[in-house]
Amino acid sequence: MTASERSIAAAEAHSAHNYHPLPVVVAAADGAWVTDVEGRRYLDMLAGYSALNFGHGNRRLIDAAKAQLERVTLTSRAFHHDRFADFCTELAALCGKEMVLPMNTGAEAIETAVKTARKWGYQVKGVPDGQAKIVVAADNFHGRTTTIVSFSTDPDARADFGPYTPGFEIVPYGDLAALEAAVDEHTVAVLIEPIQGEAGVLVPPAGYLPGVRELTRKRNVLFIADEIQSGLGRTGRTFACDHEDVVPDVYVLGKALGGGVVPVSAVVADRDVLGVYRPGEHGSTFGGNPLACAVALEVIDMLRGGEYQQRATELGEHLHRELAALTGGGAVREVRGRGLWAGVDIDPALGTGREVSERLMARGVLVKDTHGSTIRIAPPLVVSKEDLDWGLEQLRAVLASA
Ligand code: PLP
Repeated sequence: MTASERSIAAAEAHSAHNYHPLPVVVAAADGAWVTDVEGRRYLDMLAGYSALNFGHGNRRLIDAAKAQLERVTLTSRAFHHDRFADFCTELAALCGKEMVLPMNTGAEAIETAVKTARKWGYQVKGVPDGQAKIVVAADNFHGRTTTIVSFSTDPDARADFGPYTPGFEIVPYGDLAALEAAVDEHTVAVLIEPIQGEAGVLVPPAGYLPGVRELTRKRNVLFIADEIQSGLGRTGRTFACDHEDVVPDVYVLGKALGGGVVPVSAVVADRDVLGVYRPGEHGSTFGGNPLACAVALEVIDMLRGGEYQQRATELGEHLHRELAALTGGGAVREVRGRGLWAGVDIDPALGTGREVSERLMARGVLVKDTHGSTIRIAPPLVVSKEDLDWGLEQLRAVLASA
């Protein structure tokens, strides 16, 4: 047995099988590359589902984390700490908003946004108690908690986890008429991903996000944008909503906010929304901890410079040009995405997304499939053009030999 096989067998024996990882055991990583326990190197074209936008072992983030580790890592919110105010002030400024509510994971931040919208609905909008409705999109992915899977349309995510949380209505993604029909006087929020990541990097039709913005404003409903995967540079702008000059009422952020170093998530909105909270009504032991704030502050500073967004734009144009060329030959059915982010539908006759991912792995490239024959491409934004081209060359070779 190799070291990889031993490790995978032990993980199989002693961990719940809620994932189906590719058979690679990573031991070290740097930039856009990871190294496994046998010393083989792979180009990381997944980047921790976009948590690693700034690359593995980013020097600035590691230095910020190390410096904070030596000072103070956790106070809980029972006390103030000296990184908290800066983190909230700077993140609010990056979003053009007034207030921040920090959590840890994406799902927790979505839960927080749901609670916030409901509280806002009762206290500000005047919705009768217990009647608040949130409209969401089909094929969404917002996380794994019981409330969030209650409004999932993915049977794998939802089945056998009931009873489900009521108060959600699901409409087709990208369909403004359906959204308009679903919004009623008890609706407190529309919650959508500006680009649906897990669904296969689905970009809504042009005009959809501005339409959602107009409708929610007219009907006094909060527009909550789940930018956990799409935000913080991935699409070539700080937020995916920026591409259509849309400013939602609430940003939900996670993943890259912690730089792939620590879990950091947040709900960001104005005072008329986040101001609904009083002490004791919501919280998290680790939410907004000093280590999280120190790393996130560095992330925010890196995004303020704009060079990562610029890189995602330039490399993204190149990526999409190269992928578009593949659609001519029939091996690739469709390519979607924006910036350095693509969903690639492979001709199912050439294999499942999983099989293509395994063949790519054998050639030193790591991607992850989603929903049948789609693979996602989202390398760290620090990937070099040469490495990206090499990764695409491996994809072409895999498709040609299938
Ligand atoms: N929202 C979106 C758009 C996501 O892509 C994800 C994770 O993939 C989540 C929420 C959940 O985040 P987490 O896995 O940190 O709970």
